[in-house]
Amino acid sequence: MGRIVMKFGGTSVATAERILSVVEIILAAGEKRPLVVVSAVGVSEKGEAKITDQLETMASLAHAGKPYQPNLDAIRLKHEKIIKELGLDWDIISPAWDKLLAALDNRERPYCEFLDEVFSFGERLSSRIMAAVLEKKGRPARCVDVDELGIVTDEDFQDANVPAGLEDKVLDGLREEERTLVVPGFVGKTPDGRITTLGRGGSDYTAALVGAAFGVEEIQIWTDVSGMRCADPRLIQDAERLEYISFDEAKELASFGARVLHPKTIEPAMRKDIPVNILNSFAPELPGTIIRNERIKHGKVIKALASKTGVIRVDIESTRMLGASGYLARLFEVFAKYDTDVDVVATSEVSVSLTVNNSRNLDKIVEELQEFADVTADRNKTVICVVGEGMRHTPGVSGKVFSTLGTAGVNVEMISQGSSEINITFMVDDKDAERAIKALYYACIS
Ligand code: ADP
Ligand code: ASP
Ligand code: MG
Repeated sequence: MGRIVMKFGGTSVATAERILSVVEIILAAGEKRPLVVVSAVGVSEKGEAKITDQLETMASLAHAGKPYQPNLDAIRLKHEKIIKELGLDWDIISPAWDKLLAALDNRERPYCEFLDEVFSFGERLSSRIMAAVLEKKGRPARCVDVDELGIVTDEDFQDANVPAGLEDKVLDGLREEERTLVVPGFVGKTPDGRITTLGRGGSDYTAALVGAAFGVEEIQIWTDVSGMRCADPRLIQDAERLEYISFDEAKELASFGARVLHPKTIEPAMRKDIPVNILNSFAPELPGTIIRNERIKHGKVIKALASKTGVIRVDIESTRMLGASGYLARLFEVFAKYDTDVDVVATSEVSVSLTVNNSRNLDKIVEELQEFADVTADRNKTVICVVGEGMRHTPGVSGKVFSTLGTAGVNVEMISQGSSEINITFMVDDKDAERAIKALYYACIS
């Protein structure tokens, strides 16, 4: 029987009770010799910050030389409580805790490197707890140390990737291990041994990397909703579950805001043709969403929509340069130079509009672009993406989408459709986003 990967997100490991439920789920899958990936402890009560967020706040204070002891105490308390309620001893994480203290003292390095080492302790602590509970329940288990992970990444701190040639190293040396391996998600290392993280929500990517390296039969993403919904359940509470979707559809939805899956998860799974199954750790008996390598056109033409708020729109105009060969290359080089991803692009003869979702280097980018073009940047925009395999070669879909938005009185600013024809992406003002999504959902999906 083939093996499986089971990844448990933050809310699935947020309390002792949740951890015990997860252990039951793992034990029930015993025959499949699951490889377990865990996130850092998440939110258990309203208003509380997840451990990864708490680590970030603490790292920023510590690096700036400000007092951070209360933050450290809060993180310790949260873990102490869980460990105590599980009937375990602090000893199971004390070596990792000491390493966190040492990391906090080592501030003579760039903040991005410091932050990633501090970040890594969320998962390094939770994976130790999970392995100890499995052992306690009679299942031999072992936590994988960050030095043994073999997740060798580039140097893109906070958003690192494993280059294609280094994927075989993942958990190399642990293939014959009989015990259940508990892998800390989210974490990697540069070839010279500095700790990196894979992007917020990146434990899903760890699961895919482990799954691809071991050639598993399924990658299970256990979270707090039963599968991917056809719209964000926080906006549309009764949004239906998608039973099956293709890798391409999942990639579009994940990239444009369906937070339930990290977009980087798709590529390793797709390359090795491993289905990804999104399941609910709060209701393990319910079916989830299976993402697989099959274009399923039947059913609705528009299957789902996703949205990303707080996006920045950049408009670039240059009557002098546009049309000149190499102009777009020159323009995109500026974004690449400042490590800023461009998500959506629309061009006309005289202007290029594009979106970026972080403003870290926006001032520098605008300044450099202004050397050869007129540039304006607008904030508070939402990108909405409408997705469905059935949209390929189906006439009238855009008509329906935009007439619905027109009737709802939503002004659409920028429209883009990739050659795959499985998505239509456009932009609206943040203030119109909810209205636009609801109108589209009820007119085109439900
Ligand atoms: P985890 O901690 O398990 O990784 P996440 O918070 O990353 O969980 O993802 C789960 C959340 O994703 C859900 O609680 C839901 O609010 C949100 N979400 C956004 N879009 C969707 C969607 N289309 N389908 C399901 N969940 C979605
Ligand atoms: N703990 C990390 C985060 O909160 C990674 C993850 O949960 O997947 O972003
Ligand atoms: Mg997640």
